[in-house]
Amino acid sequence: MAETANPPRPEDEVVDIARDLIRIDTTNTGDNATAKGERAAAEYVAEKLAEVGLEPKIYESAPGRASVACRFPGADPSRGALLLHGHLDVVPAEASEWTVHPFSGEIKDGYLFGRGAVDMKDFDAMLLALVRDWKRTGKVPPRDLVLLFTADEEAGSDYGARFMVEQHPEVFEGVTEAVGEVGGFSMTLPNDLRVYVVQTAEKGLDWLRLRATGRPGHGSMLHDDNAVTRLTRAVANIGQHDFPVEMTPTVRQFLESVSELTGVEFDPSNPDEAVAKLGPIARLVGATLRNTANPTRLNAGYKTNVIPSTAEAVIDCRSLPGRNDELEATLKELAGAGIDFEYEIRQPGYETSFDGALVDAMAEAIRLADPGARTVPYMLSGGTDAKAFATLGIRCFGFAPLKLPADLDFTALFHGIDERVPLSGLQFGVDAMDRFITKS
Ligand SMILES: [Zn+2]
Repeated sequence: MAETANPPRPEDEVVDIARDLIRIDTTNTGDNATAKGERAAAEYVAEKLAEVGLEPKIYESAPGRASVACRFPGADPSRGALLLHGHLDVVPAEASEWTVHPFSGEIKDGYLFGRGAVDMKDFDAMLLALVRDWKRTGKVPPRDLVLLFTADEEAGSDYGARFMVEQHPEVFEGVTEAVGEVGGFSMTLPNDLRVYVVQTAEKGLDWLRLRATGRPGHGSMLHDDNAVTRLTRAVANIGQHDFPVEMTPTVRQFLESVSELTGVEFDPSNPDEAVAKLGPIARLVGATLRNTANPTRLNAGYKTNVIPSTAEAVIDCRSLPGRNDELEATLKELAGAGIDFEYEIRQPGYETSFDGALVDAMAEAIRLADPGARTVPYMLSGGTDAKAFATLGIRCFGFAPLKLPADLDFTALFHGIDERVPLSGLQFGVDAMDRFITKS
């Protein structure tokens, strides 16, 4: 067939690559003994890059926990490099809950189904389809691109992004900015206007273990130094605390932009009210107005009539960028005396400004790919690999362009049942990324 002589078009290849990646089950259980597939996915990615003349390198942090990095030299080596990153792992999927098998990569009704379809083998595939097209056609990016596909994003990044930052800083040499998840997707405002949200900030992850110690004793006696009583009082105080609204520049700009675009009034003294009027996106924005602290685990005692000497609780705290010390001080005050604090994970959030040439390039790419649409900044309440890259002083953005149907509850697809991505969204993404990188 004559067609086989022609190079594949990136808008076709993006679908094939996303599908291939979904079929490699890269379930990250958070345990090296049972996490799987990352090595196979890394080899697949490396092959796709090497096939067009790039020189990828695979890095293993532990057996099977593999990431891939590769530099695509740009026209002006004196400029800072741009890091383009995606993770290869996915969260587990329970096949019996899905309408198709989560690792079959089935296509139906215009969607590619599968675990990782939006988080984030879609963007991995866009990056691969794009750079393969550029290499084949001899197109050169304006500055060096560093492509990085990581393991372990879904379990804290220790075996992926953090390992790369700590053990292989040479990969990031000259990198000034980074682009990855979770942003660039479209949201349809109540007045039908489409906005593409660019992630410019991310809340911190502060998983805190509280430990109370007291005098052990018999449960039948009078006792005034009970570790369980002390701990539960601290946990209740923290769990019931109403954290005050603290408007960061990103959230303020988001609310002001949306207010301007929709005509819905925004009262800065009552942002909760403004957010409530936003419809489905309220869930996305609400948690970025304040620090949060939710008790999630308790552990104490072993026998009904024995007062234990210690009691423990774990609190899932999420701090606003730059506010993690302030959050800790509040929690210490709420917990009261006699409670020890120890962090299971402490990764501060980050925030960058929504301005500069790279931000302009995103806005222009979206304007050209979807005339009439706008870009607005927002803060993610969850976590991504970007927190690791931000520790190197890199400006991080979430911009993985996807044009989505107005009625699709996109954020529910992340880690959700029947995770899927519109084929047209993947194709839109390659086109928008092409325009963006051209101007980057
Ligand atoms: Zn992700």
